Amino acid sequence: MLKIYNTLHRKKEIFKPIKKGKAGVYTCGPTVYNYAHLGNLRTYIFADILVRTLRYNKYKTKWVMNITDVGHLTSDADEGEDKLEKGALREKKSVWEIAQFYTDVFKKDIKLLNIASPDIWCKATDHIQEQIDLIKRLEKKGVIYKTSDGIYFNTSKIKDYGKLAGMDLENIQAGKRVCLREKKNPTDFALWKFSPKNKKRQMEWNSPWGIGFPGWHLECSAMSMKYLGEHFDIHTGGIDHIPVHHTNEIAQSETATGKKFVNYWMHGEFLVIDKKGKMAKSGENFIILKKIIKKRFNPLSYRYLCFLTHYRKQLQFSWEALISAQNALNNLYEKFFNLGKKIGKVDKNFQEKFITLINDDLNMPLVMALLQKVFNSNIKDENKKATVLEFDKILGLNFNKVERKTVPKIIIDLAEKRLKARKEKNWNLSDKLRDDIEKKGYIIEDIFQDKYIIKPKIN
Ligand code: AMP
Ligand code: ZN
Repeated sequence: MLKIYNTLHRKKEIFKPIKKGKAGVYTCGPTVYNYAHLGNLRTYIFADILVRTLRYNKYKTKWVMNITDVGHLTSDADEGEDKLEKGALREKKSVWEIAQFYTDVFKKDIKLLNIASPDIWCKATDHIQEQIDLIKRLEKKGVIYKTSDGIYFNTSKIKDYGKLAGMDLENIQAGKRVCLREKKNPTDFALWKFSPKNKKRQMEWNSPWGIGFPGWHLECSAMSMKYLGEHFDIHTGGIDHIPVHHTNEIAQSETATGKKFVNYWMHGEFLVIDKKGKMAKSGENFIILKKIIKKRFNPLSYRYLCFLTHYRKQLQFSWEALISAQNALNNLYEKFFNLGKKIGKVDKNFQEKFITLINDDLNMPLVMALLQKVFNSNIKDENKKATVLEFDKILGLNFNKVERKTVPKIIIDLAEKRLKARKEKNWNLSDKLRDDIEKKGYIIEDIFQDKYIIKPKIN
């Protein structure tokens, strides 16, 4: 019995699929105008655990993820510039080049983090017709209107707008602190934006209402319904999507079809950094996967770090925490290696506990504690090994690839010399020795000032 927290009802609920034995999952994908940061990636690690858990429970799962390559404006409230056009200006490339570049990087990143590849990738710019068709359906329902800059959805025309976020429309209307411009209600949102009159956008399309581009929320409704049907099981994203993006997806999808859109809405909490607040694509606290790899971390140590905090709790990022995660993971690899070559039977008792925890709204912190218990237990080594590999179907920490490479004596000697040079503050010699070691295919991590770690170089 799998229980998941449904934001729509603010409680844990038993997962009941629409079609017996099957599950349809849609995850809001990245906006590809910049690198994904570790916060974004946390949200996809959470979605990966969900999908792996559904599959572990034998649900035939179809996972769909979009690529937002148009329409996401710098303010979620339909104002500001298109993030993609802004990215293109910044890098002096075309919008299409920017989108392709960051899409490719994103796909590599999720592979490095062992995030399963979605069954379907869909790009907003490949689905313009579907988005126009959806606006046409809404037009027939009489819920749209035109302003000088676009076509808007009139949120006062529907009864339950804001139900996902528990928003009170009356109060928002009364407060009216939000700048309305030509909008009829503060919560109204753009379905289609017109291209500026005096400027040609790189991405723009014809539509029955004028040349322009689709609003960001529209793409996720159009593509999720295309690939998963008008009513599907689970939709995921980060918590910032609750009040605007997902609220608007529900409004437009349910108004167009006249039926319930999604049964379970799941949201991952933010990654925050020290006291600087949420990790965001703009701003100084922007850490990307490439940076941690450059600092010689195994990307899976970030995956491990994410497991230590439940997906519905904020996770504080710090380099110290990442170092501990990496050390803890290396310890586990070492223990696993020492279990020998033979793979025995999965321990049923531990497996049952594992299933209970994972099925309790993906309780990864307790799963990690259980993993330690397996290692420390007195079951046979070969059965420990089988049990860890069984857990790893969801953990995805690559225990099946653990191997030990002995570090040759010549490398150890160079490292000792380098440590001595550092103690004597002979930085030139220390740097030279580091280069020598690297040339021989090994790397040194300066994680602690007076210690060093040696391991084989990745790639
Ligand atoms: P974006 O590429 O900006 O569209 O965001 C991709 C995903 O990352 C969305 O699901 C966001 O909700 C999520 N997200 C954004 N910032 C953070 C953060 N600091 N921590 C966790 N998830 C985040
Ligand atoms: Zn979305």
